[in-house]
Formats: sequence, structure tokens, C-alpha cells
Amino acid sequence: MASIFQPVRQNGTNPSTASKVLHPNIYTPNPKVVSAKGSYIILDNGSKILDASGGPGVVCIGHGNTEVRDAVVAQMDRLSYCHSLTFANEAAEDLAREIVDSTNGVMARATIMCSGSEAVEAGLKLARQYFVDKGEMQRVHFIARKGAFHGTTLSSLALTAKAAVQKPFEPIMLNDNVSFVSMPNLYRGMHPGETEAHYVDRLARELDEEFERIGPSRVCAFVAETASGTSMGCLTAPSGYFKAVREICDKHSVLLILDEVFCGMGRTGSMHAWEQEDVYPDIQTVAKGLAAGYAPISMLLMNQRIVDTIQAGSGFFNHGHTYSSHAVACAAALAVQRIIKRDNLLQNIQTTGDCLGRGLRAALGDHPHVGNIRGRGLMWAVEFVNDRKTKEPFPLKERVASRIKSAGLKDPWNIALNAGMGTADTIAGDHITITPPYNITVEEVELIIDRIKGVVEEVLGSKP
Ligand code: PLP
Repeated sequence: MASIFQPVRQNGTNPSTASKVLHPNIYTPNPKVVSAKGSYIILDNGSKILDASGGPGVVCIGHGNTEVRDAVVAQMDRLSYCHSLTFANEAAEDLAREIVDSTNGVMARATIMCSGSEAVEAGLKLARQYFVDKGEMQRVHFIARKGAFHGTTLSSLALTAKAAVQKPFEPIMLNDNVSFVSMPNLYRGMHPGETEAHYVDRLARELDEEFERIGPSRVCAFVAETASGTSMGCLTAPSGYFKAVREICDKHSVLLILDEVFCGMGRTGSMHAWEQEDVYPDIQTVAKGLAAGYAPISMLLMNQRIVDTIQAGSGFFNHGHTYSSHAVACAAALAVQRIIKRDNLLQNIQTTGDCLGRGLRAALGDHPHVGNIRGRGLMWAVEFVNDRKTKEPFPLKERVASRIKSAGLKDPWNIALNAGMGTADTIAGDHITITPPYNITVEEVELIIDRIKGVVEEVLGSKP
């Protein structure tokens, strides 16, 4: 029997020089990046990769920004770390003010941590504490949506209704108090002949019925991504959906948590994705676009009603991490946010996002294995199908999206894309997501479209 103390052997490599990092595929380390600048990543074999995904939508002002570097160094010269349980720091104060102010009074306070999953976990605990402080101890349940992605820690994973990531961990997940309703999906979810308005009514009825099934007074919060990222491939909601959701939450006095870890901080073309849905959340998460990959940081925002209730109740939010409000991470995020504002990047997202959407449709819209091209701002996805008429997905074992992603990294395409699965039913289905930096140029967008067309035709064949 193999001992866990034996070194993991990687194909064809000398064990003494083999990677000690546990890569997703243990036997095949990921391609090694040596540097990155602007929209390009350089590998150790000299390849220059066009970064069309920015990781999972993280790199939103491009790589190697020297203004952010200078802000980080200056912060380190002043203060790198102090414990947020005992001290405040100026960078965290300034960042929280900047982001709270960007909500135009919708949000009142922020708490700062290191990752999206941590922000989601904190959001669930905050919702629970709000009701404990109100004396509504029976509220223990969360309703989320099938196919959503909310993180990988045990309770954020419990809200992540994707069989592929949940399966091995189901017995230890904190999922006793979680249930799911349908994810709105304009491509797959509508009945034949149904209008968008009727579809929204049907989804709203389903949610209301789920509240009744659980018992509305047992529910803490409804949790949703305002626009889904890699999980379902940049799905946005039909118009009126979030307004209907907000009304149902209000009817049952339940909190609305919008997870904007992926879609927030400008990605959809407005600073917060909920601005385009004409609703306001009670609790909101943001992460990827906050420091654009220059530091690991996330934030949980809450409205005044929650602050007041906790202030009048237990007096403090019973949550925190060693690295909460990390001064260097906050300085990086603040520098990024100031660049987004100063360089009017929301405008560039709208202009280049329109080009990207139009270009993808022109290049791939009638490909026999492209079922749907969708997106908003600078988050776009191409969904692949075995059969365009029936929308039947490819068999799982064909790993279509991962093959496109892998082929993209090689010559002559040299493009980084994100691959997603579970688009059709949380198990089968393939898509790629394209989420380039907010300061991408129109010329770079055209290059991205050309290379995606090339790689899709290499893997799935070209039009007959
Ligand atoms: N929520 C959403 C909507 C996400 O897209 C992600 C990550 O992709 C997470 C939460 C988890 O964030 P992290 O990977 O930083 O823990």
C-alpha cells in the first residue's frame, strides 16, 4: 500500500526537482508563470499568453501595475499589520469608506477579510446574528439557487449547488439548513412560448412556495449571485427577477444576500451589479475586482438596519480573522479602486464589453456546437452543446470546456480562458468564460475573439 509519506511522482520528472505544490492535477503541474504585464502572462517556456480571463475575473486593471506596487510598498513602510480586534488602521478605514460610499447610501458598514468564501461565510453568520439579536432564534435556514457557486469552505460549499464540487464532501457539509430553488436561465429555463415576464412570475412563485414549505419564520436569508460567474457561465437574470425576489424577501421579513464576489466592483459595467437590477441587498459580498489580484482581499457590506440591530443587541459582530482588515491588502485595493475611478474604466467596460459580445456572436454565433453566447459588461460566456436544436450537452467524459481551455494555452493560440461545467444541470454542460481586464483595448478584444474562434474550431471543428 502506498504510504502518504512517499513523494508524489510527477510524470517524467526527477523527484528532487518536482513541484511540491499540490496542483489540481497532482501528476501534471500547471504551466509556470514567470512574469506578467498588462494583458499578457509570460511562461517559463517563453510563451506569451493573452490573459482573456484574468484568472476567474480577478485581474481587472491588468498585470504589473506600478502605481499599485508603489502604494503597497509605501503602506509596508508605514504599517504592514495590526490586529483588527485591538487596533484600527488607516488603509482599512479609507477602503471601507470608499466602497461604502460607492453604494450611494445603500450600505452602511464593511468588514474586510481575505477570500470570497470567507466573505460568504461571514455573510451567513451576520444574517444569523441579526435575527438572534432581534430575538428570532428560530431563523436558521438559507435558500440558495441550483447551480450557484458561493465558495469552497464547508458552509459556503453547502450553498454551492454544483454536484461536481460538492459530491465527496456532502457528508461533512453544513447543509442541514440549506435548500435550493431554480437558477434563472433564459437559454435553458424558459418553457416553449413563455414570455420573460411569465418566466419571472413562475420563478417568483417557486421561491415563495419554498418559503412556505420551510416556514417563512424559519428562514434567515435568500442568497444569490447577482450575475453568476464561472459557475453557470455569466448568466444574468431576466429583467424584473430581482425585484420580485426582493418583494418576496420583504414579505417574509427575510434578508437578501447578494454575492458579488465575481460580478461586483465594475465587472458588469456598474460598480455593483445590483444597480442594474433596480434592487438593493441587505448584505453584499465583493472580492475579485476589489484589489484586482494585487492582494487577497474580500469585503462584506451591510446596511444600516443590520448595523442598528446588532448595535442594539449583542453590540458586536461575533466574527473575525487574524488577517481581517490587513493594511497592505487594503492599500492595494484602495489604489486599484482609485485607478478604476480616475481612468473612467466603467466607461471602457461598456465600450469594450459591447465589442466583445458583438464580436463573439459574429465569430461563433452560428457554429454548430455553440448553443448560447451571453454576458454583460466585461463578463461573457460561450456555452457549447452537442446538438444546437435540442440543446443537449456534450457527454461529461468529453471534457469539452477543459479541452478548449488547454488547447488555448498552446501555440498558436496562446490565450488564457476559464472553463466551466455543469451549465445544463449542475453535472453536464460546458462553457468558457471571457473576463478580461477593465482597461483592455478594442484591438486586444479583436485579438481575443480571433484566438477563441481558432481554438474552438480546432477542438470542435469549423462550420460545415
Ligand atoms: N462567490 C462567488 C460568486 C464566486 O465566484 C467565488 C469564487 O469564484 C466565491 C464566492 C469564492 O471565492 P474564493 O474562491 O475567493 O473563496
